[in-house]
Amino acid sequence: MGLAKPIDQYTQTEAAAAAQELRQTLAEYSEAYYTKDAPVVEDHVYDELYRDLETLEAAFPIIVTNDSPTQKVGDQVLPGFKKVTHEVPMLSMGDVFSEEELATFDNRLQKNVEHAIEYNVELKIDGLAIDLIYEKGQFVRGATRGNGTIGEDITQNLKTIKAIPQTLTKPVSIEVRGECYMPKASFAALNEKREAEGQPPFANPRNAAAGSLRQLDAKIAAERNLSAFMYTIVTFDDVQATTQYEALEVLAELGFNVNPTAEVCHNMTEVKTFIERYQATRDDLEYGIDGVVLKVNDLALQRQLGNTVKVPRWEIAYKFPPEEAATIVRDIEWTIGRTGVVTPTAVMDPVQLAGTTVARASLHNADMLRDKDVRLLDTVLLHKAGDIIPEISQVVLAKRPADSQPYVIPTECPSCGHELVHLDEEVALRCINPMCPAQVKEQLTHFASRNAMNIDGLGPRIIAQLLDQGLVHDVADLYRLTADQLAQLDKFKEKSINNLLNAIEASRQNSLERLLFGLGIRHVGAKAARLLAEHFLTMEALMASDQEEIMSVDTIGETIADSLATYFADDQVQTLIRELAEVQVNLTYTGVTKAQAENSDSYFNGKTVVLTGKLSQYTRGELKQQLEDNGAKVTGSVSKKTDILIAGEDAGSKLTKAQALEIPIINEADLDSYLAQ
Ligand code: NAD
Repeated sequence: MGLAKPIDQYTQTEAAAAAQELRQTLAEYSEAYYTKDAPVVEDHVYDELYRDLETLEAAFPIIVTNDSPTQKVGDQVLPGFKKVTHEVPMLSMGDVFSEEELATFDNRLQKNVEHAIEYNVELKIDGLAIDLIYEKGQFVRGATRGNGTIGEDITQNLKTIKAIPQTLTKPVSIEVRGECYMPKASFAALNEKREAEGQPPFANPRNAAAGSLRQLDAKIAAERNLSAFMYTIVTFDDVQATTQYEALEVLAELGFNVNPTAEVCHNMTEVKTFIERYQATRDDLEYGIDGVVLKVNDLALQRQLGNTVKVPRWEIAYKFPPEEAATIVRDIEWTIGRTGVVTPTAVMDPVQLAGTTVARASLHNADMLRDKDVRLLDTVLLHKAGDIIPEISQVVLAKRPADSQPYVIPTECPSCGHELVHLDEEVALRCINPMCPAQVKEQLTHFASRNAMNIDGLGPRIIAQLLDQGLVHDVADLYRLTADQLAQLDKFKEKSINNLLNAIEASRQNSLERLLFGLGIRHVGAKAARLLAEHFLTMEALMASDQEEIMSVDTIGETIADSLATYFADDQVQTLIRELAEVQVNLTYTGVTKAQAENSDSYFNGKTVVLTGKLSQYTRGELKQQLEDNGAKVTGSVSKKTDILIAGEDAGSKLTKAQALEIPIINEADLDSYLAQ
């Protein structure tokens, strides 16, 4: 990359030809990125080509075309959505990649202004821009940026996001903008799920969020755990602010989720400190960021500086350099998931990357392995997708051993030897042998896992032995195990035997949602299982229900309904459920219903609670569930609407904010006594 020669050696004709070629390449990349939410190159590759185009166009302004990406905001409007017009265009943002470039930006602005410029410095959240309109405090319309003037109406999808208030704290009419994003944990879970289902993973949280919001079925968006930070007030008819910092305060007061890290910087040294702080700690954030944004703090000055056709002149993004590390591939392992998806993982020499040691990276599927042409002993460059998942960006071809051979993709299951197939145009290879020991092992491991039947002591090692010795073939067999049988296992003594039998025994009484999740029905995650169990109360009622009734359950859509229908129609499944009943596994919901939670006389009933810090006695999920069972609403960020903050170890900005807002704080140590109240 980079231009073929120094810019002053180009003739106009050469520059025009080179620019045209770059526009074509960038248009292809943008189409994949914006329309399909599946980029074919990484951002820094796109950014460098974009820079080259800018250089050519700046030297020869006459060659600029109207359709050049330098002249327009990128996104395409998808068919199927109602279009909306943005009265105030939603622009893109200029970006810089070094401190020198940042200083140039600052100097240019300072020249036009007599006093020193203050910047409000914010994190650049890796999501997509959204525009929200409220009338008299009620959310009425939400849209994507689209091409800047015309966006897509995604109101229904945005209504599923908890961080976007339906009603503001004041009955104001206002248009606001911000970033919808997918938290890192949701991004990792979604990609894991997609991989297990044979679908290609999303490249980064921004594409994942965009792909989720631009779904015609709002239930899909609801399942994706999106969140949002708002940062711009567009209309000031009913509210007042003179600076961007004040605007953020107004947004928070109105009940919007506002990123708490923004800071007013008075000079470039302060800006540099801010950048360095977040470059060093970005791994600890719950959301991905790809840089920081400097905005002129004075709103009147912003208006005075105005915009170019594409970007505001008063703001700039400083993009973090891509974090990369080089290492050598030693092996490619193929693992078989519980639904038979076979996934390649590169095993590499351990290397430090963005705060962690990385020795393994999923190659996701055979197609991706083939496309990237990763071979044994190749030197590869790694990065972290979405700041979190280690991924091979590319092979360093210059370092490829001379005798290297293309990697041969297996055609047979490494566990059972059954032929591997591609189903329904899936990207994944699958082993379709239902008796494949590797799959059964994964199914049993999932069944016993903490969020499923929670059988303590039944880990992969024990399961492997139970399968090898023919003691279990399916999950019902677990409930027929005897002490004598367990005594045959390697190093399994009386105490372990009793513990395991007790854990299995206790799991018989689990409420239905644990079993439903544990069965590993496609698309039925822990949350869907709970909603279904709470609604149908018994396995029998769920099995007898029709698609329509299933889809009437909050956030359950067609995909889950279809999957349940296929699952329960299977003879083997019906036999398994009968067997589970025979071995006295509970098939009813014994949890707290919504109505019971609402009527609870708990201390937490009706209160809005936020959790923060590291908890030692509970997992976040467990505590959230327990609080909800007690009638509480658990939300993600602290605002004036928060009633209680529950703080574990090392609580950070949420604790500070709660203290500032004088919100009651409960430490984990005192929690039990409150829960007992
Ligand atoms: P951008 O994403 O670089 O910056 C503008 C956006 O930043 C805004 O629209 C807003 O959504 C977001 N943002 C996040 N936090 C913000 C904050 N605190 N304040 C204000 N805005 C904030 O610009 P763009 O025009 O949306 O997209 C260009 C980017 O897309 C480039 O980084 C490019 O690398 C990438 N891209 C990549 C490919 C590819 O093939 N990999 C293709 C096209 C575009």
